[in-house]
Amino acid sequence: MAFLKLLYIVFLYSASAEFVWKHHNNEELPLVLEEVHQKCSNISRVYALTEPSVRHVPLYVIEFSDTPGFHQPYKPEVKYIGNIHGNEVLGRELLLGLAHYLCDQYLNHDRRIRSLIHSTRIHLLPSMNPDGWQLATNSGGKDYLIGRANNHSVDLNRNFPDLDAITFELERQGINHNNHLLKDLTRLAAPLEPETRAVMRWIMSIPFVLSAAMHGGDLVANYPYDESRTGAPISEYSASPDDDTFRDLAMAYATAHADMASTTRRGCHTTSSDESATYNFGKQGGVTNGAAWYSLKGGMQDFNYLATNCFEITLELGCDKYTPENELAREWERNREALIAYIWKAHVGVKGIVTDDSGFIRNAVVSVVNITGSVPRPIRHDVTTGAYGDYYRLLTPGHYEVTASHPGYFPVSRVVTVPRHQTSAHILNFRLEPTTSWFDDESTFGIYPHGLRDGQPRIYKRSLYQQVANTMLERKDTPKQ
Ligand SMILES: [Zn+2]
Repeated sequence: MAFLKLLYIVFLYSASAEFVWKHHNNEELPLVLEEVHQKCSNISRVYALTEPSVRHVPLYVIEFSDTPGFHQPYKPEVKYIGNIHGNEVLGRELLLGLAHYLCDQYLNHDRRIRSLIHSTRIHLLPSMNPDGWQLATNSGGKDYLIGRANNHSVDLNRNFPDLDAITFELERQGINHNNHLLKDLTRLAAPLEPETRAVMRWIMSIPFVLSAAMHGGDLVANYPYDESRTGAPISEYSASPDDDTFRDLAMAYATAHADMASTTRRGCHTTSSDESATYNFGKQGGVTNGAAWYSLKGGMQDFNYLATNCFEITLELGCDKYTPENELAREWERNREALIAYIWKAHVGVKGIVTDDSGFIRNAVVSVVNITGSVPRPIRHDVTTGAYGDYYRLLTPGHYEVTASHPGYFPVSRVVTVPRHQTSAHILNFRLEPTTSWFDDESTFGIYPHGLRDGQPRIYKRSLYQQVANTMLERKDTPKQ
C-alpha cells in the first residue's frame, strides 16, 4: 500500500509541468501560481487583493512563508510588484519564475532558500495592471505607450496620493512629523483607480518592510524620492531622510544583477524624445535617485515610504518594455541573484519588540540618530511598531542611537552597532515604563499631593528614580544635534 502511495506521489510530481518561459496571459497567470502552491502547499498561499482591475481581472498574489497567511514578530515582510505599467512585462514573468524557483529550491533543500523562507514572509504580485497587459499584448507589444495605463487610461504610478507634497511642506515649516502621512491628506488630486485602491489597502494591511516595483524601458534601480522639492521636472536630486539606506538597497539589486551596475555597458537608447534617453545609468553604478532622473507625482514608491513603514524602490529591468519571449529565460538568469539578494535586505539594521509590563505596545515610535561620524545625524523618518509590538528599522552599517517612545511612557534610548553583511537584523527590544508608575504612591510614602499644582517636584520611587537618572545620563553621553 505504502509503495503504491509513493508511486502515486512520484507520478504526481513528475506530472506537474515544468515552468515554461513565455508570456503568460491573464488566465494562465493564476494557474501558474496555483500549480506552485500545489507543489509547495506548506509554505505558500495564493490570494487576490480586495478589488479586481477595471475589467474585473483579480490581482493575484502568491505568498511564501513557513506560516502562510500569518504575520509573525521578528519576521519581516517583503513584496515584489510586477507589471504596474501594462506594457512593461518582464517583471510579471520574472515573478512567476521566482515563485517556481523558491518552491523548487525549497523542495531541493537549498539551504539559502530554506532559511530565507523560514525567516521572511514574501509576497509576489506578478501583475498590478492585467488590463494594460492585455491591451499591450493585443497590439503586438511594440508601442512605447499602448497598455501602459489601466483601462481608464490612468497611469497607476501617478495615481497614488501625493504625500511628498505634505512631507515637503512639513519640512519647510520645521515640523518633525515624518511618517504615516496618509491621515494628513486633505484631498486627492484624482480619484483612486481600483488597482491603486487594492494595492493601497494591501500596503496598509500588511506590515511590509521592503518592496520593489518592476518596470521596463531602462536598466537602473531607482530610489526615493521620485518627486523633486522645487517642482523641477528633471535633474534635481531629492534625498529622503533614508537616502543612505535607499542607495544601499538599490545597490544591492544593481550589483547582484548581471550588468545593471556595469560601468562599461551601453546605455538604453530609445527613440523617445524624452531626456531620459540620454542617460547611461551603468556609469553611476546602476542606481539613481528618482527625481535626479525625472520628477513624478503620485508614484507608488514614495507612497510606500511616506504612508507606511515600507521601503520601496523601483526597478527598471531592461531597455525593452515588452521583452521578446525568447529572451525571458536569459533575463531570468541575469536577474535571479539580484531578486534573491534584494529580499535578504529585509534583514539589515535592527528589529525588535516594544513592550510594557502587561504586553506589546502597538504604534510605539522608533526613532534613530546616526552617530557614526563626528556629527550625530538624526534620520528624520520614524518607524512604528505593529500588532505584536514589533518594528523593523533598515539601516546601513554604522553606530546608531535608537529610541522607542509612546505617549504615556518614558522613552528609552539604546546605542547599537549595525555590522556589515547581515543575514539577520540585530535584535533590540525595548521595555517601557508608564509615566504614571513613576510617581510616589501611598503604600511607600503615605499620602502625598500628586501633580505640580503647588509647584512641588514630583517624587519618584527610589529604584525607578535610579533608572530615570541612568536613562538621562545615557542620553547626555550621546551628543545630539
Ligand atoms: Zn514603468
